[in-house]
Amino acid sequence: MPCSAERPAALAALETELASLAGQGLQRRRRIVEGVCGPLVEVDGRTQLAFASNDYLGLAGHRDIVAAAREGAERYGIGSGASHLVSGHSRAHELLEARLAGFVGMPRALGFCTGYMANLAVIPALLGRNDAVFADRLNHASLVDAAVLSRAEHHRFPHRDLAALERQLARSEAPRKLIATDAVFSMDGDIAPLPGLLDLAQKHDAWLLVDDAHGFGVLGPQGRGTLAHFGLASPRLILMGTLGKAAGVAGAFVAAHETVIEWLLQRSRPYIFTTAAPPLLSHALLTAIDLIERGDARRAHLNALIARLRDGLNGLRWPLADSRTPIQPLIIGDNHATLAVAQALDAQGIWTPAIRPPTVPRGEARLRISLTAAHDEVQVERLVSALRALA
Ligand SMILES: *Cc1c(COP(=O)(O)O)cnc(C)c1O
Repeated sequence: MPCSAERPAALAALETELASLAGQGLQRRRRIVEGVCGPLVEVDGRTQLAFASNDYLGLAGHRDIVAAAREGAERYGIGSGASHLVSGHSRAHELLEARLAGFVGMPRALGFCTGYMANLAVIPALLGRNDAVFADRLNHASLVDAAVLSRAEHHRFPHRDLAALERQLARSEAPRKLIATDAVFSMDGDIAPLPGLLDLAQKHDAWLLVDDAHGFGVLGPQGRGTLAHFGLASPRLILMGTLGKAAGVAGAFVAAHETVIEWLLQRSRPYIFTTAAPPLLSHALLTAIDLIERGDARRAHLNALIARLRDGLNGLRWPLADSRTPIQPLIIGDNHATLAVAQALDAQGIWTPAIRPPTVPRGEARLRISLTAAHDEVQVERLVSALRALA
């Protein structure tokens, strides 16, 4: 093969952009984790105490779920072989959808490969050009991308600001409207005012799409999620829950009125044009949902750890965000300062991710401390002491 010296100009442009990211403290790198997700992980040959996962109930490595996955592999093999509407929809997928719908108290549920895809499925299936999406400014990137993909007008309202949302809704003449919100905000840990949002949805005849990636399994009776936490039900509600966080596996679901689910099944492109997830994951998830349902002790322990962390970090130079969920962000502000704190913790064997723009607004870089039911009090105490010493 002749080696060509020709170098696309676009490559140099990318290299300049990458150097600029590095200069702003915005370059990301991936760490290679050995073994099972848990509070203690081996990274780069060292054991780290990690406050870095969304495995809120500590189920990602649970032996019963591992055993169920193995059983699922024996029963269903590995690949689904096709998309759901062709021949990839297995008994395991079907059973999981029924279990999820019952668990969250919705008429019907539809499984997706990831939460990102589920959000991309919902908004473009329900809205098009001339319609309007109303979105909390701190919503997850997948909701933002879904709104863009739908070609609807995209109104972003200030974080949790019902009055601002109401003004936007009142001004809109769009024939179809959808309000989209994270239930628990992924980088802040606070909870959306869902009862107020549902009132506005009713008043302005809009859908309310609730992304419960961080509430499912954690909030509400038996971990049924943020809608159950508030006791909300309505045919306008569309719930998206993910299964790779508290459920400890992978995938996502949308639960809603039967007609909405049937429409998504018929029409949503991220549902139709992709290979169905391995059925063994659905089979393993049936066990994960049982563990969530019977997980009151795990949730009580998790809540005790949250209280302990907040207590321990009270009055520190860097404020904790106002959060009652396992997401406990410590707001540091400057990108480089945030990285420096993360690195100082890393040197002591503690892993807390530094979250920087564009994931969070400029000037609001933070350590995203996340607690799980697999942590113990000694481990939380170790983080608290290290942070107090650094501050
Ligand atoms: C993680 C997350 C998603 C995406 O879910 P995946 O299953 O990881 O693709 C969507 N919304 C929110 C709020 C999330 O935190």
